[in-house]
Amino acid sequence: MSITLTGAPVSPGRAAGVVVTMPAPVPEPPVAALDTSDASGADEAVSRLGAATSAVQERLAAQAAQATGTAADVLAVTAAMAADPTLARDAERRVREESRTPERAVWDAANALAAQLEPLGPPLSERARDVRDVRDRIVAELTGVRPPGVPSPGHPFVLVAEDLAPADTATLDPEAVVAIVTSGGGPTSHTAILARALGIPAIVAVRGADDLAEGETVVVDGGAGTVLRDPSDADVEAARSAVRVEREFDGHGRTADGHRVELLANVADPEAARAAVAAHAEGVGLFRTEFCFLGRDVEPTVEEQVTAYRGVLSAFSGRKVVVRTLDAGADKPLPFVTADDEPNPALGVRGLRTAVAHPEVLDRQLQAIAEAAAAESADVWVMAPMVATTDEARSFVAACEAHGLTRAGAMVEVPAAALRSRWVFEHATFGSIGTNDLTQYAMAADRLLGDLAALSTSWQPAVLELVRATCQGAHSRGRPVGVCGEAAADAVLAPVLVGLGVTSLSMTPRALADVAAVLSEVTFVRCRELARVALEQPDADAARSAVRRELADVLEPLGL
Ligand code: PEP
Ligand code: MG
Repeated sequence: MSITLTGAPVSPGRAAGVVVTMPAPVPEPPVAALDTSDASGADEAVSRLGAATSAVQERLAAQAAQATGTAADVLAVTAAMAADPTLARDAERRVREESRTPERAVWDAANALAAQLEPLGPPLSERARDVRDVRDRIVAELTGVRPPGVPSPGHPFVLVAEDLAPADTATLDPEAVVAIVTSGGGPTSHTAILARALGIPAIVAVRGADDLAEGETVVVDGGAGTVLRDPSDADVEAARSAVRVEREFDGHGRTADGHRVELLANVADPEAARAAVAAHAEGVGLFRTEFCFLGRDVEPTVEEQVTAYRGVLSAFSGRKVVVRTLDAGADKPLPFVTADDEPNPALGVRGLRTAVAHPEVLDRQLQAIAEAAAAESADVWVMAPMVATTDEARSFVAACEAHGLTRAGAMVEVPAAALRSRWVFEHATFGSIGTNDLTQYAMAADRLLGDLAALSTSWQPAVLELVRATCQGAHSRGRPVGVCGEAAADAVLAPVLVGLGVTSLSMTPRALADVAAVLSEVTFVRCRELARVALEQPDADAARSAVRRELADVLEPLGL
């Protein structure tokens, strides 16, 4: 009999496939001595080491050949690292001279190599991570445990994990992963953001996901938030043949009566910028620059940053690109600005707060943004993450002005800034509401915690109140305010946000067409009415249901 598991729907679409689970981290091998009572013990260990290294290298090369896009590049680099003789030679020496087991020898040799690479600065320091990845794969081969990272079983599959780390997602092949199901994670976790960006159906915080067995067939409905176990043939067939209605955005966001709502894209790199252009985004409402810093042990140089930023700016000549300065800390830790021993990282030194101890990092980034802006013809706006006080807004605007960046804004992600919006926007020239963090802080619910997924939604009337307060304060100063959190990609919530006073919405490019379609069917007055209806509800579920009911005539024909 079929059983349905439920969770928080984060990326729409239906898919059927077999379950493949994420492997557990490879355990560190014990420091055990090799039995070298006769010489053949060391020879045998060395030959096992060689065989394991070759097997890993061949498998990675085969996976790279099958994969597409970034996943193929990452796998090819790791395969080349596995073929590098430096690691193999040192591991062999440790077996022979220190009588280490092959798995311990490769563990120690890789750690020593990574420690040599780390201080050398990019791009060599970047290779330390690849060395550790190769280490884990060879140790897994030698000890018979599953290799790390997103599996590549050679056929399409439903990926089941506790949650995905940003590093895992680099090897996630969107052609192979038909759906993602996690037991943890919230609607604004990295898994959710990535799945929406790639258009992969996904559900997070699924109760019972840990019990899903390797190889069982499931049907995932990313819109309804259900995972059907033991489905009938008809269920599987229906999911396989379900095609999403494909719409196009014409590049000009507006309501039915012509009230302008800029529809922008969230991007993190030049590839995403090109996808945003292809989806006719009017510009970029959130350029997450920390993706150029993440995974690095040292700060990228100004020149490297200029190159990275120009890659995005060049795709949007003559159009607006809102560059967000570094948002390190909490869910995006960086070794050179974040402490690793904070008791509550989400409430710690993150976002703009890192600039207090490291003003030079912000200064160099603003210099790089200014240089990139001067070299390209995009209309560059700059904003700071996690602004909480008027004083922070004032000093950020001053820091931007020192680099000739006159369009300096504040992200509103902390309830304090929403409530003091009138004062914050005395200085900041525009606002962008980060509803992912604003929801986390309004509801005191960790955005990564699946158990709190019901609280972690921007449909919470308390969050909508904060959006309204932000808009009122900003408008009293004549400043525009956008939303760039995941709420902007919710086509049902979009008219509510517009009714609350939001002037632009920035989202994953894939959501643009649906959001534009809904907005073009409702007048501005109706948006205000929908906002009033949502604010009157006692809780998030009631707000969502009430607005869906009110909008049924628009949503049904659009299949939303
Ligand atoms: C947000 O918090 O809503 C936001 C857009 O920033 P991030 O998700 O990168 O923290
Ligand atoms: Mg944020």
